[in-house]
Amino acid sequence: MAVEVAEALEAAIGELRTALGTEYVMTDFHQRAIRTTNTSPMGLHQWKDLLPDVVVMPASTAQVAAVVKIANKFLIPITPRGAGAGLADGATPMKRGIIVDIKRMCDILEIDDEDMTVTVQPGINMQELNKVLRPLNVWFPDDPASYPVNVLGGRIGAGGWSLLGTGYGHVPDLVCSMEVVTPTGDIIRVGAGGGRKIRKSSVGYRLKDLFIGHQGTLGICTEVTLDLAPRPQAQLPVFFATRSWEDAHRMTLAFNRSGIRCLSGVVMFDEAKVEFLRRDDEAWIPLPEWVNSAVATICYGTSVELEAVKSSIFDIGAANGGVYMGQEISEGDWASRHDRYHLAYHGRSDGTIRLMSWSCEDAAITWSQLPTVKRRWYEIAEALVAKHPEHFDIWGMFMYTGNPFRPWGDFLTEIDIGVNELEMTPEIWADWVEAKTQIARVSVECGGSVSAAHGGTREGEVDVACYEELKDGQFDLMKRIKKMLDPNNIMNPGKYHLDEAYEDEETA
Ligand SMILES: Cc1cc2nc3c(=O)[nH]c(=O)nc-3n(C[C@H](O)[C@H](O)[C@H](O)COP(=O)(O)OP(=O)(O)OC[C@H]3O[C@@H](n4cnc5c(N)ncnc54)[C@H](O)[C@@H]3O)c2cc1C
Repeated sequence: MAVEVAEALEAAIGELRTALGTEYVMTDFHQRAIRTTNTSPMGLHQWKDLLPDVVVMPASTAQVAAVVKIANKFLIPITPRGAGAGLADGATPMKRGIIVDIKRMCDILEIDDEDMTVTVQPGINMQELNKVLRPLNVWFPDDPASYPVNVLGGRIGAGGWSLLGTGYGHVPDLVCSMEVVTPTGDIIRVGAGGGRKIRKSSVGYRLKDLFIGHQGTLGICTEVTLDLAPRPQAQLPVFFATRSWEDAHRMTLAFNRSGIRCLSGVVMFDEAKVEFLRRDDEAWIPLPEWVNSAVATICYGTSVELEAVKSSIFDIGAANGGVYMGQEISEGDWASRHDRYHLAYHGRSDGTIRLMSWSCEDAAITWSQLPTVKRRWYEIAEALVAKHPEHFDIWGMFMYTGNPFRPWGDFLTEIDIGVNELEMTPEIWADWVEAKTQIARVSVECGGSVSAAHGGTREGEVDVACYEELKDGQFDLMKRIKKMLDPNNIMNPGKYHLDEAYEDEETA
């Protein structure tokens, strides 16, 4: 580290301690090391280059604003961090600097069960929030597979996608308004127009959406007013087994077009996913060998409503080659949707046991393009595994309904790949990044989006996201907005190639 950079850092740490108290400004190696990455695989060879210099844990909006102002004064990068369970490297400090960990800001500020909102700080976890809301018979229906671990700020930073989004909407649909500390340390509130609890307004620009899914590049959200929903009386998970993925795909279209309003999600499991669950998931109840694929449907509503649609669900499944898996599997597997990923990750396709971590490519793809995307993704993944059998393993695909409030149209389409991080080398990592680039390119070539849930900021997909998906002016506009709001490039630099916005200045 150059002398003047080290001096600036030391001076900044001094001012941070005055603003937050010594206890909440941490420079110990382990506090920094555990906040270096997120849950997406990263080769161990990269760790030392990404280690942040200091971690702060503010308790209030005023403290967050103070941290941002200090960072601007000393030109030290900031990375906002929630639970660090993102899958797009958003909370990874590409340029080191200050991690702003928001987990101390976890208070519930107001519950309004007449206008159906709750106002909270961004460090709150949704499971904890829903425990408090339960006696009032209302809930905040954001339901990602990572429900027990995420915090709200990270859900907003990533623009989160919910397993129940088809019934209740996703995170962008569930935020009424927010308070945000901008990259220069100003405190603003954005919503639908100016009303804190309003969901639909025609006044002004839709600025709220600008501050959702930006991966911490445009500010730090410090308070949020959320939309609540009545707690559903009942749920009806119905899982069907099929002989082929083609049956599952066809059946899903029939569900899409059924007009069943309480349908809150439909999920397809492909052949490789069923095979993976058979060999590697002890929560998966064994199924006969003829089962190659599956469709899960889930309805939420009143008991009367669910009773009324039950026979239609069974009829649609049977008419499309589906065999009902029974109540035990349907209810048990749906109940384990938040635990499914807590497997000991072992790649076993070559008969050996090897520790691997989970990587998920999560494109948004329309129903009609799913067969093409599936075929082309497997070609890419199989070539990678053939070249590096000890480092990668195919764990199959899921496709989930993605359209908010409507069970048709596009699907969060995920291919899961096991990655052996422990034995990673720069050369193998380069092949991995190339495979991810090809996977992302297929999504865009098929009219989709690189990511439905996690964001397109990781190595591999980020080039395709910025230069191929967001071409035709979108990426250029992003850079202009970034530079206008963040003149010093303080807020999460190194993400989405937004540093390009400052390059002319450097060469001038
Ligand atoms: C097992 C597993 C299953 C998953 N399933 C799903 C799923 O079903 N749906 C889904 O959408 N995602 C899923 N994810 C991905 C992940 O959990 C989400 O992206 C989640 O939103 C991340 O929240 P976090 O609190 O961990 O955020 P972090 O990883 O800490 O941060 C995510 C991003 O938000 C930014 N950020 C954090 N706090 C703030 C703030 N206060 N203001 C502004 N920006 C901020 C960070 O800089 C970063 O860019 C899954 C992850 C795992 C590990």
